Amino acid sequence: MSRIALVTGGTKGIGRAVAERLARDGMQVAISYAHDAAAAEAAVAAIEAAGGKAMAIRADVGEADDIERMFDLVEASFGPVEVLVNNAGIRRDDLLLRMRPDMWDDVIRTDLTSVFACTRRALRPMLRKRWGRVVTIGSVAGLAGNPGQANYAAAKAGVIGFTKSVAKEVGSRGITANVVAPGFIDTDMTSDLADGVKDAARNAIALGRFGRPEEVASLVGYLASDDASYVTGQVLVVDGGLAL
Ligand code: NDP
Repeated sequence: MSRIALVTGGTKGIGRAVAERLARDGMQVAISYAHDAAAAEAAVAAIEAAGGKAMAIRADVGEADDIERMFDLVEASFGPVEVLVNNAGIRRDDLLLRMRPDMWDDVIRTDLTSVFACTRRALRPMLRKRWGRVVTIGSVAGLAGNPGQANYAAAKAGVIGFTKSVAKEVGSRGITANVVAPGFIDTDMTSDLADGVKDAARNAIALGRFGRPEEVASLVGYLASDDASYVTGQVLVVDGGLAL
């Protein structure tokens, strides 16, 4: 039987590349999104055109009711989630003195609380099955900090402590939990960075370029596989050698 994966925010950027990768690896893939139905349709069509099986669900990972409905729909169509990729994320950047409380709350809810809620919901069937994979997309900002991103860095650092705790709680049941921490990846999230910021970033990256979503997806594909059965509680950085 093919495994069942859920990729939050799987309709664009890194999440879409992860969804395509897992489908290529033979999994049935559910992808969620918050706003852009056309992107969701395109992502499902691309997976199906390549011979895979996919479904898209509109569900805001910042809303507890949406999360419950999302898992119910996946279970009804495919079955219990065996591979959860917590990928959906946003950023609301500004220097701390200008950061409003709602900018803090939005990012913590979407990038951190969602990881708690989705992982907790996914865990029970994984425990029953004594097999599961939880991969959360963090960020190098959660390791090194970044000016203008106190909210985002706090959320991305938070998923590391969360993941290590979960790894210790459920490791004896064959479930692994890991964080993949990308550096600068070419997606919508980085498209609006000022040219000066992009140039400075490229200068600090050993490989001299931004990464491609597929270059993150290949690591997620490994962590989601049986091959990664002895890797848990880790933070794996995919940043092209940023600021080595
Ligand atoms: P994109 O902005 O390209 O895509 C984000 C995806 O998440 C979209 O599918 C979007 O759907 C969905 N999404 C956004 N908000 C929600 C929500 N509240 N509920 C459900 N889905 C939502 O982002 P990236 O691919 O660049 O980023 C993916 C992850 O990687 C994020 O966690 C990000 O923090 C992390 N990351 C990215 C880096 C980069 O350089 N790009 C670097 C380090 C980490 P819709 O458009 O319909 O809302």
